[in-house]
Amino acid sequence: MSKKFLLDRRELVIGLAAGTIVPLAGCADNAALGRNQLMLVSQAEIERLSATAWRDTLQRQRVLNDPAYTRRLERVGTRMAETSGLSHLDWEFAVIDSDLVNAWVLPNGKVAFYKGLMDIVETDGHIATIMGHEMGHVAGRHAAERASQQRAAQMGMQIVGMALQTQGVDYDADMAAALGAGIQYGVILPYSREHEFEADRLGIDYMVGAGYAARDAMDVWLAMSTLHQDRALEFTSTHPSDDARIAAMRAHIEAMGYI
Ligand SMILES: [Zn+2]
Repeated sequence: MSKKFLLDRRELVIGLAAGTIVPLAGCADNAALGRNQLMLVSQAEIERLSATAWRDTLQRQRVLNDPAYTRRLERVGTRMAETSGLSHLDWEFAVIDSDLVNAWVLPNGKVAFYKGLMDIVETDGHIATIMGHEMGHVAGRHAAERASQQRAAQMGMQIVGMALQTQGVDYDADMAAALGAGIQYGVILPYSREHEFEADRLGIDYMVGAGYAARDAMDVWLAMSTLHQDRALEFTSTHPSDDARIAAMRAHIEAMGYI
């Protein structure tokens, strides 16, 4: 990747605005998604932000050392990482000692599951469902795409052929906010609906590939959609599970012959 992309964000914006930095690799083909993506953020930059966010998390949050939780998460996570085609990442799995119902994965393969979520799921397949969905966001390079879309919007760039308006992305959300404040509060900012659909499809493919039952995916997302508001629902607020998503998942499972 060009060294130009290692500039800090301010320099990048100024450079792009002045036309001294040309995002030559502005669109990248993503094999996992079968579509092109706007990419104005380098993998190196994403990895740097992710590494900082992970360090912050391990310092600020209480990490649980109970093997009943940690071994289970690692068992499922390791299996899922293999089938996701993301085994090149340096995967780490941490259980956060919190009653929040939440989980997230950073683009560099660092995974946080909250004790509150692990306490309400029953099978390894349920954990694999959520893990697979989050790994789908990683394989889809959704965080980088979202940051790129935001940068393009901020700079008022007209990217011919890139249908930004269809993405439904929250342009106010910066990558730094997602990985900084997001981590601070134990949440990752919401992805666009398209990203959620893509992560659902990929996640189901991964979990079935790893030998888990696709039925577990339906169980989890149906349960998420009906969880009461009095729980700390960071996960469901960033991953709204509505009828359209569940119907799309069911259609994908049937089309692929998973059930
Ligand atoms: Zn999601």
